Amino acid sequence: MDYAQPPPDQAPDANGASNGPMIQSSDIFDGSAAVYQWNDEYGDVGPKLEALELELFGDPATRHERTGLDFRRIESIEVKQEGPVKIEPIKNFKEAGLHPVMLENVLLAGYTHPTPIQKFTIPAIISGRDVIGIAQTGSGKTGAYLIPILSRLMGKAKKLAAPRPNPATFCEGRDEVTAEPLVLIVAPTRELAVQIFNEARKFCYRTMLRPCVVYGGTPVPEQIRLLSRGCDVLIGTPGRLVSFLNKPRVLTLRRLKYLIIDEADEMLDIGWQEDIQRIMLGGDQDEGNVKYGLFSATFPKTARDLAKEHLAAAHVRFRVGRAGSTTENIKQIIVQTEPHEKRNVLLQLLNEMHGVRTIIFANSRQEVDCLDDFLFNMKLPVTSMHSERTQLEREAAMRAFRAGTAPILIATGVTARGIDVRNVMHVINYDLPSMDHGGIEEYTHRIGRTGRIGHRGVATSLFTERDEPIASVLTRTLLETKQEIPDFLEIYKPDLAPAGRWGQ
Ligand code: ADP
Ligand code: MG
Repeated sequence: MDYAQPPPDQAPDANGASNGPMIQSSDIFDGSAAVYQWNDEYGDVGPKLEALELELFGDPATRHERTGLDFRRIESIEVKQEGPVKIEPIKNFKEAGLHPVMLENVLLAGYTHPTPIQKFTIPAIISGRDVIGIAQTGSGKTGAYLIPILSRLMGKAKKLAAPRPNPATFCEGRDEVTAEPLVLIVAPTRELAVQIFNEARKFCYRTMLRPCVVYGGTPVPEQIRLLSRGCDVLIGTPGRLVSFLNKPRVLTLRRLKYLIIDEADEMLDIGWQEDIQRIMLGGDQDEGNVKYGLFSATFPKTARDLAKEHLAAAHVRFRVGRAGSTTENIKQIIVQTEPHEKRNVLLQLLNEMHGVRTIIFANSRQEVDCLDDFLFNMKLPVTSMHSERTQLEREAAMRAFRAGTAPILIATGVTARGIDVRNVMHVINYDLPSMDHGGIEEYTHRIGRTGRIGHRGVATSLFTERDEPIASVLTRTLLETKQEIPDFLEIYKPDLAPAGRWGQ
């Protein structure tokens, strides 16, 4: 089967953003998606709302689409814990002591078993610990903090949360409030913030907790409008958060109880330290009363320093599998090629694995644009994304990719960080990451876009002589994840001298 051609009105334009979905949603930002509207007359738990339930959790018939997951495989993954207290992992969600509404929401979301990181972070956070969670991409880190935090807050929302207007009687210009979130989640990219927001919308269903997301590229007044309805769980990118923190009538952290940094390694790496410091310290919060969580796939020094500075000495740290190493259920192929042959190799790869969701990574925005034009002219259903696109273009590209109208997404590494789209079967590193832009950690993140939670995936990387600096650490990664080593990388194999060093 060849790629189904998208209908003409949804063909990507020269910039690669799909026209169709964009026109339909020209004034709808992902951040304005429906959330559960709490009514003061509800007791402790709100009633079910069928239409919203369908929107949040999808059709019950396909909700358990994930039953194909190989959970035995996942269960066998080892989790290492470090810290002064020992956390007894939970075995299942039922025995986790979750608020009954949270338990229902978890099941509605189709989560039948906790993932390894969730087994540890759920009891740790419920017992009030600061937590560092290091686990491969696709291992369920979002739920690992959202589930216990929101569950703990559910019973106490009425006491802790700021007063908010009743949606039924809301009057513009009269009832606006300052957003005083109990939970703040900071994420590096807009797409990721939206993705976390969407998970939060599910878990906040039927509760008083109101999620909200803020990120750059969307009109400030629109976001202020949403915040002014009340906000208990705020998700945001650093820049936009800092600009709202500078407007204390819009946003204050004085009620803050939990602060989570997601993709912590990335957040500390690309020049955001100042914003992060400002968020960690400068929002009126009572630092002694705030619980912290750092979540990441890798745990480099900058993140360790941040942890030392802010987390309680009694925090617990969990590492799933080997930090920074990729799961064995991703088949990694490295193809040696000449720079001028790359496009042909790419076409060949797309042809060999056609009709599947594919993400192609390039290292520069210009390259992303060029490849988009090239593949579009080859009549392939592509869309693309990088940081110079407008927010609407980025959201449209993600939507087209998710919906499958454009199953090939071309992106720069940073933009695609943390994105979770089901069934990405193939990741192609058209460019391998360079050593001074993320190196092997970036490689790990990128290929982690496939092989999510127990699914198998393929990651193919084009290797040219320019990539020699990454060759030895790449070879080591291949060995550690039990991959085949292509002949041309044999020379980079570490010395086997201390016998069996890699085989044990
Ligand atoms: P990470 O942050 O570790 O990369 P995510 O939190 O994005 O991973 O989760 C990856 C995917 O797995 C998401 O689609 C999420 O809904 C799903 N997921 C998370 N936990 C579970 C679970 N316990 N059971 C089934 N699916 C899960
Ligand atoms: Mg994540």
